[in-house]
Amino acid sequence: MTSQNVKIYITRKIPEAGIKLLQEKGYELNIQPEDRPATKEEIIKDVKGADALLCLLTDKIDAEIMDAGLPTLKIITNYAVGFDNVDVEAAKQRNIIITNTPGVLTNTVAEHTFTLMLAISHRIAEADRFSRAGKYKAWGPELLLGNDLSGKTLGVIGLGRIGSRVAFHAVKGFEMKVLYTDPKPNSEFEKEYGAVYVQNLDDLLPQCDYISIHVPLLDSTHHLINEAALKLMKPTAYLINTSRGPIVDEKILAVALEKGWIKGAAIDVFEFEPEITPELKELDNIILTPHIASATEETRSKMAELAATNIIEALEGRVPPNVIK
Ligand code: NAD
Repeated sequence: MTSQNVKIYITRKIPEAGIKLLQEKGYELNIQPEDRPATKEEIIKDVKGADALLCLLTDKIDAEIMDAGLPTLKIITNYAVGFDNVDVEAAKQRNIIITNTPGVLTNTVAEHTFTLMLAISHRIAEADRFSRAGKYKAWGPELLLGNDLSGKTLGVIGLGRIGSRVAFHAVKGFEMKVLYTDPKPNSEFEKEYGAVYVQNLDDLLPQCDYISIHVPLLDSTHHLINEAALKLMKPTAYLINTSRGPIVDEKILAVALEKGWIKGAAIDVFEFEPEITPELKELDNIILTPHIASATEETRSKMAELAATNIIEALEGRVPPNVIK
């Protein structure tokens, strides 16, 4: 097989940096042309005869799609670090390599997490709405009072790449105390940053002023934050979620915010994306961003390059850098 015969199907346009790497190899690229996610029918039709599939987190990649790509399909590369949208077991059974794009987005997602923490604490979105509505008549000692991050306690759920970067900013930038829970404790990180390991989530929640979620979506993390968890949090606490929507029971979150079980929330991901539970949109004590935690020009280009590199390495017979095992 020469590289001229290699066909790559890309379910939606990604930044040029990645496209260029694939074009330089002489591969034939088929990029779904519309500015929307591909439908399942489109993916099934266009994956036929492709050697590689470059997909997004909005694409549910199941056995039926994989079978449509066989016998030519060798690699599926997901343009995201989370890969809950891909049936990894089905891929293994078919000897199709699965890759993702970890690492290059860590700093950006940690920055967005902090943006959300600061914005909800300092009531930025609310204050912006207030100002635009012409409600600012005079400075006031108690106008739109928020809360400081400095000196408070942050609870990190999942101290992996992103969680540890968030914890780093909290300790170094805001002199916060960090508690964390993770099935894999990180004693190096504890030593260096004074983070404290708490084995059980139920013990972590009541101690924290901020809770930030950084776990993958798995059966074991689905609705990790449910009614019981929200009731364990302080009534003054804030919940931040930049991981995956279904980790939080969104209906119950709306109740918690409405009834004052917690003080506020800021979330980038939704349980039924792109739908947002309507009750949440009515509340002032929540900030909603549309799954943009990794959306900077720099990072999306790096993700495109990494996705392309994974494809090139696999198709040239080497082990790609980000194989999901
Ligand atoms: P990672 O694998 O480095 O870290 C995940 C951590 O969670 C690991 O340390 C793991 O041991 C821990 N963990 C697993 N189950 C747990 C549980 N039940 N309780 C506590 N900890 C648990 O992954 P990462 O690169 O840090 O990314 C984390 C997640 O963030 C991804 O899986 C993805 O879903 C999400 N993400 C979202 C965006 C966005 O745009 N909003 C961008 C990137 C990543």
